[in-house]
Amino acid sequence: MESELIALNDLKKVDPVFGQISFDNHEQVVFCQDKDTGLKAIIGIHNTVLGPALGGTRMWKYNNEWEALNDVLRLSRGMTFKSAISGLNLGGGKAVIIGDAKTEKTPELMQKFGAYVHSLGGKYITAEDVGMETSDMDLVHDVTPYVTGISESRGGAGNPSPITAYGVYMGMKAAAKFQFGSDVLSGKKVLVQGIGHVGETLVSYLTKEDARVVIADINEERLNEVSSKYGAEIYRGKDLYSEEADIYAPCALGATVNNETIGKLKAKVIAGAANNQLADENIHGALLKEKGIAYAPDFLINAGGIINVYAEIENYGKQEIINKTENIYNTTLEIFSKAELEGITTHQAALKTAQSLIDARKLELKK
Ligand code: NAD
Repeated sequence: MESELIALNDLKKVDPVFGQISFDNHEQVVFCQDKDTGLKAIIGIHNTVLGPALGGTRMWKYNNEWEALNDVLRLSRGMTFKSAISGLNLGGGKAVIIGDAKTEKTPELMQKFGAYVHSLGGKYITAEDVGMETSDMDLVHDVTPYVTGISESRGGAGNPSPITAYGVYMGMKAAAKFQFGSDVLSGKKVLVQGIGHVGETLVSYLTKEDARVVIADINEERLNEVSSKYGAEIYRGKDLYSEEADIYAPCALGATVNNETIGKLKAKVIAGAANNQLADENIHGALLKEKGIAYAPDFLINAGGIINVYAEIENYGKQEIINKTENIYNTTLEIFSKAELEGITTHQAALKTAQSLIDARKLELKK
């Protein structure tokens, strides 16, 4: 997490809010505080041209408020492009609650947070993210309808992680097709870094297809559990980035493609679930292109979760969720072609496509 965040000194060099790179045209940023429950939260609303800003709430013990602000802004901007490129009528937003989800989260705090979400009148719709459970979203749902990711018994679409994993699998197959000429993953060595909610399901798809799956995690218990369940090999080396492999799937933290790791990477494809995989989207996107590594943009291929929660708003069923998620395969191939044709990185190609959809809607709205 820390490596995802810009150093405090760098942040202080420019104006504190509108001058931040991560502020990037945010429409609204809301700071929420409640002394009684200890709530300190920031809601970032990046863009609402395509629809209400939907994005999860992350609860994290940030080192300082700058880190929290930077995190929410980066994540909320990412949601704008994720929803746009997935063809959803949603804008981009995100929220962070500052605190330890294990020790400081209480029902009162969650409901107070829900009241703040409600006060925005539907401009921002929340959902789960790191540090949140479906039960927390149910508490938010007690005070506002502007929440997704609630229990199935309350009309929710259920856990989004398996769908996210399916989308990542689709994006990975498309990237393999582009890079290796075939989307068959059988025999391909895939490094899955992080075998949590998404990583485990991804491992299940990969092992089913007879890929050679190597798993890495900081949680030894999970490693043993997932390894024995799917027959995946546990990584026991010291530096995962240097490992010979066909595909690297970051499914733990962001910013793992950075100055330190990029020179070591042996994999020819990067396709994973983590948000903000490129520490610097311009510098590291370009370096990956230079190295001939096919990078499937994170916000494109990890959109299964948002497609899943969007079903709660649009009232579509499981089959439509699967169809939309399977379409990630086609969109990823289109992005690889566009990047090649225009001589730009895949990240830039995906951003351009998303931005053009937003611009087109803006024009329509002006008519
Ligand atoms: P999770 O918390 O369930 O799993 C993360 C796993 O990564 C854990 O097993 C953890 O032990 C491991 N991990 C943490 N630090 C690590 C490290 N340094 N090296 C190796 N392993 C490490 O999270 P998740 O829901 O599976 O999500 C994974 C990633 O995908 C996150 O970055 C998340 O933001 C992103 N994402 C998730 C969804 C979703 O639907 N869950 C949707 C979009 C994006």
